[in-house]
Amino acid sequence: MPKKLAAGNWKMNGTSASQTEVTALCGGIEQVSCDVLLCPPATLVAPMASWAAGSTLSVGGQDCHANATGAHTGDISAPMLADAGASHVILGHSERRADHGETDDLVRAKTQAAHAAGLIAVVCVGETEEERDAGRALDVVGAQIAGSLPGGVTGANTVIAYEPVWAIGTGRTPTLDQIGEMHDFMRDVLARQLGDQGRELRLLYGGSVKPGNAAEIFAVPNVDGALVGGASLRAADFLGIIRALDAA
Ligand code: PEP
Repeated sequence: MPKKLAAGNWKMNGTSASQTEVTALCGGIEQVSCDVLLCPPATLVAPMASWAAGSTLSVGGQDCHANATGAHTGDISAPMLADAGASHVILGHSERRADHGETDDLVRAKTQAAHAAGLIAVVCVGETEEERDAGRALDVVGAQIAGSLPGGVTGANTVIAYEPVWAIGTGRTPTLDQIGEMHDFMRDVLARQLGDQGRELRLLYGGSVKPGNAAEIFAVPNVDGALVGGASLRAADFLGIIRALDAA
């Protein structure tokens, strides 16, 4: 059984004043057995890693370039994230796919770069509302998984986050049956593609997870945790989700 993971995505939120929330989170997770990860904006990766020192909180980036160094103004690379204290990096989030035109090919190259730097890649996939309404959700996610994962993927170096685009930041969530259908499907696809390692990969659900709906989502088979946006910004909310995961 892979260890469960509660991952927070702070997106473009957070400053040095966020230290109090992180300190409260670190205190609150002392007794929990699941893994806990926060991915702040790049400016906070190094400070957050030092705030979290001595706790079990892991820190990750929200993106990295596919190259290790070079003339790429404004970008940061996987080795730079690792150097700043990150252990993980989110890749292929739907906001980056939409805002920055990221394709599966690019996400695959970035995932390879993350692995080369020793980072755990949290690779995001998920359908739009139009794609779900057209009955294409499984096809879209299957193609994203096939296109976004490089060779060498293992349960130790990669996590998949299923995030239906229409559920992110909207307060809407798929039905539990829809989440279960997708997670079973992803597990089958990964097991066929990767054999035993495909059964080891953690499959997170993401999209409007809150303390109030977390327990029922975590009871769905093949849901190994969550990628949480808005509700990860406040320690009290994120701790509610983490405790629900620990109890699942
Ligand atoms: C996300 O952006 O990864 C996310 C899941 O956001 P939210 O929890 O706010 O829907």
